[in-house]
Amino acid sequence: MNYSHPWKGLLKELVDIRLNEALLTQYVAALAGVRRALDDWIPARHFDRFTELMSAHGLVVEVDCVFKRLDWQEAASGKELAPTTRAVGARYPDGLDDAPGTEVHVIVSSRSDWAAETLKSGWYPIFVNGRMVRKPQVDHKWLGLAFGYPECCVEFFIGHNDWPRFNTLADAARASSKLRWQANCLLKNSPWTPMFHMPCSFDCPATVEYSERTLAAVEGFDPAYAEQIRASLKQYFLMISEGQSYVLAGASGGAGRVAYRKAVFVGSHAQYDRISRPLDRGNELSVEDGVVFIWKDGELVETFETDCHRGIIEAPIILRFE
Ligand SMILES: [Zn+2]
Repeated sequence: MNYSHPWKGLLKELVDIRLNEALLTQYVAALAGVRRALDDWIPARHFDRFTELMSAHGLVVEVDCVFKRLDWQEAASGKELAPTTRAVGARYPDGLDDAPGTEVHVIVSSRSDWAAETLKSGWYPIFVNGRMVRKPQVDHKWLGLAFGYPECCVEFFIGHNDWPRFNTLADAARASSKLRWQANCLLKNSPWTPMFHMPCSFDCPATVEYSERTLAAVEGFDPAYAEQIRASLKQYFLMISEGQSYVLAGASGGAGRVAYRKAVFVGSHAQYDRISRPLDRGNELSVEDGVVFIWKDGELVETFETDCHRGIIEAPIILRFE
């Protein structure tokens, strides 16, 4: 695979086994005890290497189940209410095979009691005979706390995690008196983030402490990596929804119009990217009443109206993290 950084040591081994550069800082956070546990999806064909690596670093692994690629679309009641992670579940170890899409869902922690506690609430909604068994709200709370996320952020997430009704990130921005880069979660789908949770505000003190402790631990593995994370977070972003955010590279400007060199999509899945093309046509933007205005050298070239798109509330907002 192509690497976006010259990984070394544990970080390199994690990338090579997981075939993915996200979540690396969260392994470091678990090792340092900043977070209690994390969950991950490990390619089944690399699973033995993974468990050896974890035990060499004193980390405990609990297995939830085996996930296999879902390549049929069966009518299932309540499908639209389920998370976007979708797979066929099979028991571990009976369901293991070497197919490229087969993964093992695991919980990793520095303590076996923390791992067991996380496993209890770390399950996905299940479809049985076409009907969904939904996870109770209280399990979301227990899972957040078992991961070691700040309690204020866990409560906020539970109160807002309803895509057609709330835009969690816009609400977090409204609750902030300052946009601190340490609480910037918009790069969580990339390697350049010290955190994976959504904060209750972008100046949440518990989140700022979480990120600083994680970065201090990352520094011990790779100081250049820690520095690149800091630099990546201290930028301008256009946030539209949880899955749709953009880094405004080379940006400058005030609260009104912001000039940018390039807008880079940093959302969770390419399917959520609705505005890269219009943004590519311009070099300046502003947001007013849910509309993104895009200019090129002073001339208005695009007007992008947001709405509740495919059940996701869009609430565009420009965020400058410092
Ligand atoms: Zn918080």
